[in-house]
Amino acid sequence: MAKNFYQILGVKRGASTKEIKQAYRKLAREFHPDVNPDNKKAEERFKEINNAHDVLSDAEKRARYDRWGNKWEHAEAFEKARAQAGAAGNSQQFQFDVNDLGSLFRQGRGGGFEDILGNLFGGGGTRRGPMRGQNSEYTTEVTLEEAYAGTKRTLEMRSHGPCPTCGGSGQIANAVCHFCQGQGTVVQPSRMEVKIPPGARDGTRVRLKGKGSGGVGGGPPGDLYVVVKVQPHSRFQRKGDDLTTEIEVPVEDAVLGGEAQVETIGGKRIAVKIPAMTQNGKSIRLAGLGMPKLKGKKKGDLFAKVRLVIPDELNDRQRELFEQLRAERNSETPAEAKAKA
Ligand SMILES: [Zn+2]
Repeated sequence: MAKNFYQILGVKRGASTKEIKQAYRKLAREFHPDVNPDNKKAEERFKEINNAHDVLSDAEKRARYDRWGNKWEHAEAFEKARAQAGAAGNSQQFQFDVNDLGSLFRQGRGGGFEDILGNLFGGGGTRRGPMRGQNSEYTTEVTLEEAYAGTKRTLEMRSHGPCPTCGGSGQIANAVCHFCQGQGTVVQPSRMEVKIPPGARDGTRVRLKGKGSGGVGGGPPGDLYVVVKVQPHSRFQRKGDDLTTEIEVPVEDAVLGGEAQVETIGGKRIAVKIPAMTQNGKSIRLAGLGMPKLKGKKKGDLFAKVRLVIPDELNDRQRELFEQLRAERNSETPAEAKAKA
């Protein structure tokens, strides 16, 4: 097994940038081709040192290397593909490869996840025994209506299964299997339907047990999590399981009392009673017409917020009546009349 980058530079895993730089300079001087003419071994070592320094001196590359070991470059491609799958969002399908990481660690017969771990964490005492596969996480966007009624998404997955030609050994009669190029695994496309439950919130995680990356050495597979992102709505604001919407109420109805129509998130139109003397901005609570609760069968409430509408124009008769109203504005109220009497 190849030495890890820290071993190559002769520094500890937690080494500072300064320590890495110093170690690199010292070794680079020692193995520089100018100092070692026609020395193949020194040349190899020089390349190795430069390669290790290239990764460990770059904070981002180093973090990825620390996490994924020698397969860090593949991990980058995987993370990118994963981010794209997440960004694809609203599309009904998105593609990803749940077993990419599992397969990365299984590449190369004899080697494996345990060896990489052993290699990374100081060589001594390699871990043995089965290991659980990685969990995977994907994001999907839904509309508020979809979150209300519940919906489905189809995941198109490419998972790795044993090669049918060589049975997973990567070899046929001591020759490299041409079908899987010696990998022992082949890509198998599959589809899976994910149910987004009614009442799903922004950030709700739907767990698909055992649909993550495959395990290693007989270990169980990881889980797949589908993370829900709920799109904002033009007419409804959501707060927990409650919704708020606006209703327009003509000024005469707000004063005298009346009725207004409200459209619910479920698509129904219902009549709402407007009490007399309703002020602008007043919220009218409509119990049980909000979002379904994730647990149980109850629903949140819908709050209809009143917006007073003043007429755009008046005919002569209407103007006359409003003028009369204005003239009466300072007249005494029934309460005042009663108090006087
Ligand atoms: Zn094969």
